[in-house]
Amino acid sequence: MGIDEAYGYRLVAVGESLERVELPNLEPGPEEVIVKVAGCGICHTDVGFAIEGVPTRKALPLVLGHEISGRVVAAGNNATAWLRRTVIVPAVIPCGVCPACRAERLTICRNQFMPGNDGDGGFATHVRVPARGLCPVPEPLPPGLSTEFLSVIADAVTTPWEAIRRAGVTPDDVAVFVGVGGVGGFGVQIAAALGAAVVAIDIDPSKLELAAQHGAGLTLNSSSMNERDLKVAVRNFAKQSGKRGIGLKIFETSGTPAGQQTAFALLDFGGYLAVVGFTPQKVELRLSNLMALDATARGNWGCPPDQYPGALALVLRGEVAIAPYVELYPLDDAPAVFAAVARHAVARRVILKVSNGNEDKP
Ligand SMILES: [Zn+2]
Ligand SMILES: [Zn+2]
Repeated sequence: MGIDEAYGYRLVAVGESLERVELPNLEPGPEEVIVKVAGCGICHTDVGFAIEGVPTRKALPLVLGHEISGRVVAAGNNATAWLRRTVIVPAVIPCGVCPACRAERLTICRNQFMPGNDGDGGFATHVRVPARGLCPVPEPLPPGLSTEFLSVIADAVTTPWEAIRRAGVTPDDVAVFVGVGGVGGFGVQIAAALGAAVVAIDIDPSKLELAAQHGAGLTLNSSSMNERDLKVAVRNFAKQSGKRGIGLKIFETSGTPAGQQTAFALLDFGGYLAVVGFTPQKVELRLSNLMALDATARGNWGCPPDQYPGALALVLRGEVAIAPYVELYPLDDAPAVFAAVARHAVARRVILKVSNGNEDKP
């Protein structure tokens, strides 16, 4: 079954605005599905491709977008069980058979498929993706939540979720998030849902205010505090929190050199630093602090698909709120909205909202 009247917004060349393109004759391969997109988040990675010249793995032109939720409207012969199901498409879909996948290191699979990087992505009415790894969404959704909001789970929620899982955050912990925008704001909520006492650090008062309403027990504005003051404030909060007081769990979610400096400076004895944000810029650190403090630093490239249902459950239970952290725009505004995101003119994470109603119709 082919799909009529599918279209998307593709990047033709670095620095140019997105261009509408028809996607005729979209047909799934035997192991693939066609998802009718409900929503697709715009991520900093997309801006990297379009503006900063980070090369996509499949050559341009390419429809961008890797934070996708929607409904399966066509399926290949080996994927028919997914038909008419609401799904989240993982941002990184491992191959499942290479040495990394067999060793359960799914996020480092070199044959992984990332929509909007290895093939056309979700700035579109429809997208063709491998069926393996799709995250099924139980229906009906709770009141106040609709499918397009779930798109950001495919990166902005699951990436900090995986970082928090690897850090082994428990109710005994104090978790610190440096940068509480689109990714860190979800991290704050996840850590709080797991019972940790949470500190939010940012330079934007409005983001700190939102974090205080959604899980942060302490908010600190790093634009008006030096590293020493931040350390003292975090240490006092940790003492008052009644937690066991061993080893802060620190999450660098700003993706800025200043944020990385701050996060590293906060490491204490037995501390843990998760590098979640990305910047191509370098920072100067005394790496020996890891040795002297018996501390750990670790990064993660996204989240394996088998961890998606846990993150989704937090959202469905209302323990992680999405709506206050996003802004919705129609798909056809993609070129203008994308340009606005690229020049940091939109405060919250943008979701391109595509379909509504008659979602069973291909
Ligand atoms: Zn992303
Ligand atoms: Zn693999």
